[in-house]
Amino acid sequence: MNCPKCDKELNEKMYRGIQVDSCSTCEGMWLDCEELDELEDKVFDKDELKGTTIFRTFPTDLKCPRCGKQMKKFNYRYYDLELDYCEGQHGFWLDKGEEKRVLELMQEEAKKMARKFNLEENWVKTLRRLKTKDFFSKLKDLFR
Ligand SMILES: [Zn+2]
Ligand SMILES: [Zn+2]
Repeated sequence: MNCPKCDKELNEKMYRGIQVDSCSTCEGMWLDCEELDELEDKVFDKDELKGTTIFRTFPTDLKCPRCGKQMKKFNYRYYDLELDYCEGQHGFWLDKGEEKRVLELMQEEAKKMARKFNLEENWVKTLRRLKTKDFFSKLKDLFR
């Protein structure tokens, strides 16, 4: 498989515990579709928080290293980050540094979500504590 940018042979390497194909010349990185999912799995452990949102696409000059078709660009989630992808669902191309940005964005989002879950969990605990107290001690609490 060759780099869609410089047409050099891509080398397999490990990135954050998953296998990717990277270009030693432009330092870009090719991720098969499942590999981007795996990368998300490393950051998000709750399934409902992940899932790639493609919401704006436009054509690009790059060709898919797997099938040779012209790739498209899309905005990754709701952030200002553009990735190239193959419509045949072969994978994604990340320019140098973009993979870090993808991870950063995912981690930011994971942090926000964690905070939200914490708040909800505390609220549930409070409710539970109130429920376990007997009626009279609840009354006493009210008039204290
Ligand atoms: Zn390259
Ligand atoms: Zn393709």
